[in-house]
Amino acid sequence: MSNQFYPEWPDPERLLVVEDDDALRTTLVDMLGTLCRQVRAASTLHEAMREVAQHPPELLLLDLGLPDGDGAELLRRLRVTTDVPIIVLTGRDDEEEKVALLDAGADDFLVKPCGAAELLARVRGQIRRAGVSKAARRWTRLQLDGVEIDLLEQRVVRHGEPQRLTPTEWSLLRTLVLHAGRPLSPRQLWDLVWNREFGDYATHVRVHMTHLRRKIEPDPSMPRLIVTEPGVGYRFAAPPPARST
Ligand code: CA
Repeated sequence: MSNQFYPEWPDPERLLVVEDDDALRTTLVDMLGTLCRQVRAASTLHEAMREVAQHPPELLLLDLGLPDGDGAELLRRLRVTTDVPIIVLTGRDDEEEKVALLDAGADDFLVKPCGAAELLARVRGQIRRAGVSKAARRWTRLQLDGVEIDLLEQRVVRHGEPQRLTPTEWSLLRTLVLHAGRPLSPRQLWDLVWNREFGDYATHVRVHMTHLRRKIEPDPSMPRLIVTEPGVGYRFAAPPPARST
C-alpha cells in the first residue's frame, strides 16, 4: 500500500520467514531475497521465538499452522516480545478471521498462494508503515491543508477556528497517532481508549470517530488523516511532521 507522504523508504536489512512447509518456505525466502540481503527462516514457533530474540528482523512473515503452535495464540506470544511488523500467511480470505488476527496483533495478511509481486508490495508497505509509525511517535505538531494539531499543547485549529476536543477524543487521536500506519479495529480502539469490558463498542467508536473527524479533518467527508480500512477498522495516515524553524 503506497503512502502519499513517504513515497520512498529504504529496503529492509533482515527479514524472517516462519513456515513449516519446506517447499513454500524456500520459495518465500527466494522471493524476499530480491528485496533484502538477509532473509532468515524458521519452521516452528520455538525457532521463530529464538530467531526474533537473537536476530531481530524488520518484518516477520508468519504461517499460522505450525507444528508447535497455532493462530492467534502464536501471534500474542510474539507480540509480548516484539512490535515488529507481522504479515500473516492465511489459507482463507475471510474478513472475520482477519479482524480476529488483527486483534491478536497482525499487521497485514496474505492469502496463500500469493505471487511474488504482491508479496513484495505488502512487505515494502509494512516496512514503510513501521518507519512512519516510529517517526509519528516523535511528533508533537501536525499541519495539513488548513488544519493544525498540537498534541502536546492539546490544541486544534481547523480553517482558522479553534476546536474543542473532549478528553475521549484526545485519547482516541493520541492512540491512533501512536499506532500511525497500522489499522486498528473498533475492538482494539475500545480496549485502548475506553478500557471498559462491556458496552456497544462498535457504536461508541463510530460516533466518537465521526465527531473527531469533524474537528480535525480538512474535509470530514473525505478523511485523509484518519482513513477507514474497509472491513477492518481505522488507520492514522501520517502527514509529514511540521518543520521546526
Ligand atoms: Ca503450515
